[in-house]
Amino acid sequence: MLPLSPSPGWEGRFGDAARLVEQFRAGRVLLAGDAAHIHPPVGAIGVNAAIDDAVNLGWKLALVARGQAPDTLLDTYHDERHAAGERLLRNTRTQAVLAQANGDDDRLAPIRDLLSELAESADTAGPLAEAITGVGTRYPASGDPGHPWAGRMVPDIPLGQDGEDSPTAVLTRTAGGVLLLNGAADSQALSAAARPWADRVTTAHTHAHTVERAHAILVRPDGHAAWIGAPSTPVDAAAEELRETLARWFRRPGPTP
Ligand SMILES: Cc1cc2nc3c(=O)[nH]c(=O)nc-3n(C[C@H](O)[C@H](O)[C@H](O)COP(=O)(O)OP(=O)(O)OC[C@H]3O[C@@H](n4cnc5c(N)ncnc54)[C@H](O)[C@@H]3O)c2cc1C
Repeated sequence: MLPLSPSPGWEGRFGDAARLVEQFRAGRVLLAGDAAHIHPPVGAIGVNAAIDDAVNLGWKLALVARGQAPDTLLDTYHDERHAAGERLLRNTRTQAVLAQANGDDDRLAPIRDLLSELAESADTAGPLAEAITGVGTRYPASGDPGHPWAGRMVPDIPLGQDGEDSPTAVLTRTAGGVLLLNGAADSQALSAAARPWADRVTTAHTHAHTVERAHAILVRPDGHAAWIGAPSTPVDAAAEELRETLARWFRRPGPTP
């Protein structure tokens, strides 16, 4: 063991505790970050997880405070982030076990080898990295559940005539939702269906090839896809799906109760 420095430049204390609160919300008390979950520091994603909590909660709080969403919207914060917390603990505990420096016990070596192989394979490296970093987190979404972006953070695809804009830029500017349309035949009907929510949801156009297998995507203010309009869904049914999803997240338009 190295002798302790009499004047260390940095001091820290941590263990391998892994705990998750039962409830992220109790009335007006909301927990986020390390207050809601602690885990071994392996993987270095505590800050990511804390920011994901805060971003999931922030837009919901703002809508509820402005009367643009019902109070029950805050319950979805618990539902979504508690599930994410369970995955966070599972992943960090797995890494902590595998990182155990115990030269005498090589029972974990086969698992380490297997995971190393998966991490090097083009097919599995991406999903593994997304699981470990939390980037692959999916929240419940409506529309086409088989679409690869359903419930996930939407990639920063180019928007507008010249592709000069992106969903992140629009979300950051407006702090509202974004309805992405790809110019398919039902774009006008979907745009009209979303018009009553125009103060909360911006409509943006993107080139057809950038939104594959979807005619339209409703992006929540935290960047996750809330609804995927499948090309096979008839236009009236797609418009109704969209209206229901908009009402779920942004309340039906009308006087604030
Ligand atoms: C050794 C170690 C290494 C780590 N490395 C990484 C890494 O590389 N990458 C990474 O993403 N994460 C890392 N983490 C995890 C990361 O530090 C935490 O997950 C993250 O800081 C949690 O953020 P937070 O805002 O929830 O809590 P905190 O960062 O703990 O912030 C809480 C703040 O509240 C303040 N506070 C507490 N009580 C009160 C009070 N009563 N009144 C007012 N203020 C109060 C505290 O002083 C603190 O500033 C590491 C953790 C450890 C222990």
